[in-house]
Amino acid sequence: MTFVTKTFYSQEDLVRHLKAHQPSFYFSSKTSTVIPYDKLETLLPWKKDGEYFLCDLSKLPAHMEVKENGNLVLRGAVSWEEAKKFLRSKGRNLKTSPTEQLALITAGIATSCTGERCFAFGNMRSQVVRLKYLDFNGEEKELKREDEFKSASSALAAYQSDFKHYQNFKNAPYPRFEKAIDLMIGTEGQLGLVTEVEIETTDNEPVTYVFTLLPRWEEDFTAHMEIFHAVQSHRDAIISCELLDANCMNYLKPDEKLGNNQDVIFLEVKSSAFEDIYANVLCNLTHTSADNVFEIAENKFHHVRAGVPRAIFEVNSQMGVVKIGTDVQVSPDKFEDLLEFYRKAAQVGVRYCLFGHFGDAHLHFNYMPTKDESAKCLDEIQKLYDEVLAWKGSPFAEHGIGLLKQKYIKRFHGKNQLDLFHDLKKEHDPYNQFFPQGFMNEGL
Ligand SMILES: Cc1cc2nc3c(=O)[nH]c(=O)nc-3n(C[C@H](O)[C@H](O)[C@H](O)COP(=O)(O)OP(=O)(O)OC[C@H]3O[C@@H](n4cnc5c(N)ncnc54)[C@H](O)[C@@H]3O)c2cc1C
Repeated sequence: MTFVTKTFYSQEDLVRHLKAHQPSFYFSSKTSTVIPYDKLETLLPWKKDGEYFLCDLSKLPAHMEVKENGNLVLRGAVSWEEAKKFLRSKGRNLKTSPTEQLALITAGIATSCTGERCFAFGNMRSQVVRLKYLDFNGEEKELKREDEFKSASSALAAYQSDFKHYQNFKNAPYPRFEKAIDLMIGTEGQLGLVTEVEIETTDNEPVTYVFTLLPRWEEDFTAHMEIFHAVQSHRDAIISCELLDANCMNYLKPDEKLGNNQDVIFLEVKSSAFEDIYANVLCNLTHTSADNVFEIAENKFHHVRAGVPRAIFEVNSQMGVVKIGTDVQVSPDKFEDLLEFYRKAAQVGVRYCLFGHFGDAHLHFNYMPTKDESAKCLDEIQKLYDEVLAWKGSPFAEHGIGLLKQKYIKRFHGKNQLDLFHDLKKEHDPYNQFFPQGFMNEGL
């Protein structure tokens, strides 16, 4: 098998490639944490003979425009960072804010990405008005949110019924397949390629960023849980609620570190509502003193927040280990159980840190093992997925399945899921040319 890398500079080139029905993996900014880009060629076994294409979509011509109703229409290679800058110049802002702003928005559809602002605005899927994609014949097709999901598959009704349990999660263990647009959302490029998206935006309202310092969660998470409960009914004023634990500070430069061996919870609050949130939420906390609440500049918040996962990625690369981190979201009533689990996982004697989308009960626990320590960390993570299955939580709420999480997701897919994956792959990818090693191939 020969791997061939192709970069596409125009949609016409891409259409030509699609018409040849060659097995291919398409990528955009390569920020996915579930695709090991540095080992891709060894992890993509397919057939012994023939060619396999690694297709770069990050050079496709980019275009953005804001409609009168404020929706953003974008085509091609547009990153979250570029879209935010563009929107702000027009008095608008994004409703979705993934921590990695260099990722492309079209890829964000494919991974059903979420992020910090999900706390106030819901997941990205809920903001997609319509999208266009290229199918296996290179034909561009349009899908609209107002249309229902259609498939001739007899498994669809049972699949949709199973999904009901997960409707309040950011992402479930399997894609939603309820509205027409869902064909491309969370299917990780296995049924077509997203080329154009129309998403809702919001007013570019002034926001205030504050952080509170807390004791280390491993010792006592009473103060954390008090904040968790206090913010839930203020999603109209608090846009995001994020955690970096004290261990995360080890991965920041000395002048970036916050607190003194303390955990940090950040709130992004609409400035117009800040006084109200300060007086009625922050000053009413019984386990956190208002003296421990500090304002932080927006740039510094983003720098520090994104700096941690990026540093973790680098440390893992230097150690020669694949990232061992979680992406679990649980229902609010199971959040303490999740923290208890992480507390035990922290005791195995391997470096770790905890961070993420605290307000949504969605945290990333990361081990930072040496090569020798990896096996015992993987054992712990396997135990976590057993618990998540029992809690009926979501094992991978935003980073997707890719290649790295496939062995863990299998237990979350029953007959109804596999049957629908099978039928959708046959219908929309009859030559199995789109990411043939993706999780939907479980059904083939
Ligand atoms: C530091 C850090 C922080 C992160 N924070 C978040 C976060 O807060 N929220 C979140 O959701 N994710 C987060 N991620 C994960 C990652 O950024 C997302 O998964 C992102 O959507 C991937 O975008 P990308 O352009 O890098 O896609 P790639 O990594 O290039 O591709 C990802 C997947 O999408 C498919 N794909 C790419 N382009 C297309 C297309 N045009 N059409 C169809 N399929 C396509 C690929 O085949 C692949 O399966 C983070 C990652 C890092 C490193």
